[in-house]
Amino acid sequence: MADREARKQKVIEALNTARAMELFAITQYMNQHYNLDNMDYGELAMNMKLIAIDEMRHAERFAERIKELGGEPCTSFDAVVNKGQEVRAIYPFDSNLEDDTIDAYNGFLAVCREMGDNVSVKLFDAIIEEEQLHYNYFDNINTHIATLGDTYLSKIAGTPSSTGPSNKGFVLGQGAA
Ligand code: FE
Ligand code: FE
Repeated sequence: MADREARKQKVIEALNTARAMELFAITQYMNQHYNLDNMDYGELAMNMKLIAIDEMRHAERFAERIKELGGEPCTSFDAVVNKGQEVRAIYPFDSNLEDDTIDAYNGFLAVCREMGDNVSVKLFDAIIEEEQLHYNYFDNINTHIATLGDTYLSKIAGTPSSTGPSNKGFVLGQGAA
């Protein structure tokens, strides 16, 4: 096994890659939130905002762990945000993104375990569970749009987009975590 410092660096690298993925998701979901709001799909806009808030919490948790390990949390991401996506493009895209994220985080969790960092293992474990709930939600909406199409979308049109005073996000707001 590599020495302690080398093992720590491997974990920091995994945490920072995950943090960059969160920073991308935050920015992508915020863009979709504004689009959905413009298109008047209030309920979808509201949930998108709440999920973006979940991703902000994830980005913070990764940063806190990186700091604990003596690393520097990254501040940018490589991917390009897709602007102005149509409602029918958003949900397949987001289901895929969450699916890819779950895959990647399972890989990072394995790295942390191999490096003997059980605190980071638990962090990835907890966040993977939340990404699974995001996936379930996006996949569910995707299925509604695919099967019911305009009938479903016309029911959503004009619904309120306000998240109210709570900024707990999607997972904690539903008491799902
Ligand atoms: Fe996340
Ligand atoms: Fe997510």
